[in-house]
Amino acid sequence: MRLLDLPAQHAPLQAEFDASLQRVMQAGDFIQGAEVQRFADELGAFLGGAHAVPCANGTDALQLALMSLNLQPGDEVLVPAFTYVATAEAVAVLGLKPVLVDVRPDTFTLDPVAAATAITLRTRAIMAVHLYGQCADLTALQQLCRQHGLALIEDNAQAIGATWQLPDGGHVAAGTVGEVGTTSFFPSKNLGAMGDGGAMLTRDASRAAQLHELANHGQRRGQKYVHHRIGLNSRLDTLQAALLRTKLPHLGSWTAARQHIAAQYDAALGGLTRLHIPARQPGSTHVFHQYTITLANQTERDALQQYLQQHGVPSVVYYPTPLHLQPAYQYLGHRPGEFAVAEHLCATVLSLPIHPVMPPEQVRYVGEVVQTWARG
Ligand SMILES: *Cc1c(COP(=O)(O)O)cnc(C)c1O
Repeated sequence: MRLLDLPAQHAPLQAEFDASLQRVMQAGDFIQGAEVQRFADELGAFLGGAHAVPCANGTDALQLALMSLNLQPGDEVLVPAFTYVATAEAVAVLGLKPVLVDVRPDTFTLDPVAAATAITLRTRAIMAVHLYGQCADLTALQQLCRQHGLALIEDNAQAIGATWQLPDGGHVAAGTVGEVGTTSFFPSKNLGAMGDGGAMLTRDASRAAQLHELANHGQRRGQKYVHHRIGLNSRLDTLQAALLRTKLPHLGSWTAARQHIAAQYDAALGGLTRLHIPARQPGSTHVFHQYTITLANQTERDALQQYLQQHGVPSVVYYPTPLHLQPAYQYLGHRPGEFAVAEHLCATVLSLPIHPVMPPEQVRYVGEVVQTWARG
């Protein structure tokens, strides 16, 4: 059994992939060009009419999003203590200060109450991470941002295709609520390339133009060798754009397949007292980048992981170490115990296999193995 089976997921699209690659090779337009713009337009349309600006990877997307805010060295950006390292890295690498904030014990996303207490006169932005495939509490975070004049950045690397219900009842795509959203096309993400890729998302056309500039050496469209800003060379590869255009029309059905598997896991595991299924964030749909459960403590988590492995079921810990205990972030001066929820989650989370072409008998089998362990 595999956590992810990209060869099987890609197999039915092989002829289309071949045609895409041929199209790019024959056009000979290997950097930017029409293919990248078409992908950007199609992704924007898929996300309800937002502007999508492709770039080289999801980490660059976060960095470019921050660069578009014109911050000063030493400005503070709130970041969850429980996330992939890229979220904090993008802040730190720009000479800004990542201010870690604990996550909620029920949904594992940035805690708006803890965020409120971390705001200082230097705070400029909040980075919310839509962890495992569902949105952070965007209404609470947006309210906090409005109160304090902060920008909201959504790290949507794990929740592309999820939706958020606005206070007025309307539904919008995750990643298009804040000033800038970002996503990643790392191969294992819900919409993965066959290499690196990423994008910024925004509803603001002038910010989209600015992000495009920043990702292309600060150069405006049609103005070669005039550099308006200090930017990056961070472009989505044209071949990757062509492959992603082939995959994008399938993202909806792949997401539905993930949601179906998650519902089966919920049914199989829901009654077991030896494990816990995290709460679903009201207002958000969940695209199940991961199906993650928690155990009572690390001994229990490690025992289940070992039992699964003995029965041929792979599982992963996303993430084993909170940011404040990572060697590179010791300079922030935090101690063990400071972000208790993040630390507890690192010791107790476990992600089970979930991917769009996972055979139903495997889903059933995983459920049965976990049940046997939990009742044993
Ligand atoms: C994958 C991921 C990123 C980084 O994306 P890359 O494309 O690998 O640079 C950032 N944040 C989160 C939450 C991620 O899961």
